[in-house]
Amino acid sequence: MIKLTQRVSGIAPSMTLAMSARSAEMKAAGEKVINFGVGEPDFDTPKNIVDAAKEAMDKGYTKYVAAAGLPALKKAVCAKLLRDNGLEYEPSQIVISNGGKHAILNAVAAVVEEGDEVIIPSPYWLTYPEVVRFFGGVPKYVETSRENGFKLTPEQLEEAITPKTSMLIFNSPCNPTGAVYSEDEIRALAEVCVRHGLCVLSDEMYEKLVYDGLSHFSIAQASPEMKELTIIVNGVSKSYAMTGWRLGYLAAPAHVAKAIGSFQSHATSNVNTITQYAALEALRGDQQTVADMCAAFAERRLKMMEVLDGYKDIGLDYVKPEGAFYVMLIVDKFYGKKSEGKMICGSMGFAMQLLAEQKVAATPGVCFGDDSCIRLSYALSMEEMVEGLGRIREFCLSLK
Ligand code: PLP
Repeated sequence: MIKLTQRVSGIAPSMTLAMSARSAEMKAAGEKVINFGVGEPDFDTPKNIVDAAKEAMDKGYTKYVAAAGLPALKKAVCAKLLRDNGLEYEPSQIVISNGGKHAILNAVAAVVEEGDEVIIPSPYWLTYPEVVRFFGGVPKYVETSRENGFKLTPEQLEEAITPKTSMLIFNSPCNPTGAVYSEDEIRALAEVCVRHGLCVLSDEMYEKLVYDGLSHFSIAQASPEMKELTIIVNGVSKSYAMTGWRLGYLAAPAHVAKAIGSFQSHATSNVNTITQYAALEALRGDQQTVADMCAAFAERRLKMMEVLDGYKDIGLDYVKPEGAFYVMLIVDKFYGKKSEGKMICGSMGFAMQLLAEQKVAATPGVCFGDDSCIRLSYALSMEEMVEGLGRIREFCLSLK
């Protein structure tokens, strides 16, 4: 039998993908499952982007390109960072990777040494700790509070930093909580990071999905010193409904981008060339489709909150999300109750029973480091969403 390395044998499979797979199986078997587990926009990739890919193929742009990305695309990323974030980068500071996930892996590989501590505010996106551990790092979770909208405070950050800390993984807008940090909140965190010379991996994948007139602020904008300590990760998956195309990017100080480019040149070489041409159109073309998608999510978010506000009397509560397309529904009041003779144990038990009995898929909060919640995505139609929320209510009322 082949003996596995310690490095890979401890990695947990992505639970969000596992839940989606289970609900897809049930759907395929003809069951009317409502899936709140989705982690991707339910919109088609805009036509101009698809057309750009077709054109690239017709023109024969189907060969290898530079490992760190098509020069024109790196330029387009620089133009985007200037246009949307007021940040100046050179193409040599950009690496195009196979999705934001790959960019995160690259960034951690470049900065985290064996035994280093990496601060991860909790609840967190479940990939962060797995990637950190893969490179021998030690995730150091900092619990955020519901009362503070699941946001890390400068005091908490200060307290978590030790001589072994090499990185903070910061995610605004946040998956799973929907938290969006304000400019002031980010500036206060940046002050602590600069004082300690702490590198920040800033995951800005949901940048375009913010509501109520809020705007996204990148921690790299806080000061030139902070920019020198920041690795921005972003991509086209969520903003342009391009999850299956697999393209993300990072922007970093030149020496970091150079090292990551070399690493990637041996690991994967360039991202699919056709996808890179499609992403070029996404970044440079008409941005109206992004605004339209955001408006649709904004409407669903309001409806979701309106319906959930009506469930407070039965013990369901939530923390108001300000961005991304997720809400954390607090369900721990139901733990210990019974459903069809089975005791509900934690968020996993709650989600499993909910799926079995009401055919509603949701992601257990334990996957994100918060066992008191389940995560509901509103990347599904309004009708399905309302129907699904009604089923969750039914399920809760049935618990004895
Ligand atoms: N960062 C966060 C917070 C995410 O939720 C995701 C995807 O779910 C990613 C990064 C990775 O995105 P991609 O599909 O581009 O790899």
